[in-house]
Amino acid sequence: MILYLFDIDGTLLHARRSGSRSFEAVFADRHGIAGACQGVRFGGKTDPALIEEIFVARLGRPPSETERAAFLDAYLALLRAHLECHGVEVLAGVADALAWLSARPGVLLGVATGNVRAGADAKLAAAGLAGYFALGGYGCDSQLRAELVAAAIARGRQRAELREVVVVGDTVHDITAARACGAIACAVATGSDPAEALQHADVVLGSMAELPAWHAARYGADLPARILGDLRRGLPFDAAFRESAGVSLDEAESAWARDLNLPWIWMVRLGSSLTVWMVATLLMLIAWAVKRARDRRMMEHWQDEEGPRPVAPRLRTVGDDDQDDGGTVH
Ligand SMILES: [Mg+2]
Repeated sequence: MILYLFDIDGTLLHARRSGSRSFEAVFADRHGIAGACQGVRFGGKTDPALIEEIFVARLGRPPSETERAAFLDAYLALLRAHLECHGVEVLAGVADALAWLSARPGVLLGVATGNVRAGADAKLAAAGLAGYFALGGYGCDSQLRAELVAAAIARGRQRAELREVVVVGDTVHDITAARACGAIACAVATGSDPAEALQHADVVLGSMAELPAWHAARYGADLPARILGDLRRGLPFDAAFRESAGVSLDEAESAWARDLNLPWIWMVRLGSSLTVWMVATLLMLIAWAVKRARDRRMMEHWQDEEGPRPVAPRLRTVGDDDQDDGGTVH
């Protein structure tokens, strides 16, 4: 299984400053300081780390656990209100890329985001994307991004055997976290860090619209070579295909059929082994019925040519009526 972990802000969507506005409003309300987030960079940081940064910058001390929890409760209420009022901007190519990836066999989608779980869910719901993700790592798992990515990977391993993990994000923090977890770092230049700052990633995409082609190139082109390698190791073909592709032949065939346009699906159905056997059996039954009908017609034709058959003499047996002797032999 290949696990994709997506950052949210700047990668999947722009929340139209709903997060930073909510942070500022809560800080002003609770601590009487307006514009508390000025000069603070949000990109790639976790919610708990941002709260701590703002507290230290404005109050000269970190928050207590109680203050942090109360801040988050107030923040989430305001965030939901902002999202309901202003909505979010789903970034170019995101919806199509997620739909395409989620239809691939052997692919699992999750999020790895600095948002706390409730904030992440609210943003994804506002974007209409929540249904794509089976798991996640969140700001409430750890203040450190690498640790929340590790938490998401651990949840992925509980679901399936992972062949590779791809972390997709818009900041250098996403790349650093991916490296720390041994994942592929896929940067997308749609957020707060420019493409030049992301060049140390394994791949830099201009937008999420480029992700399907990258996936196809990485996990499709070398599939035959991997299968051949597994065959050389002595695996039977079905096992070699599953080992290399992460899915069975049947699952791959089903996914292929889903991708085809409806008018062409009959070709796949005809090509399946079950269909071939059914058609072969049907043809044999038809051939047998035709031969039987032809033999019957030939017999009837011969009988017509030879005339009526003589009546077969009836053998007399002991106990038959003595008067009934016509046409019998003894
Ligand atoms: Mg981001």
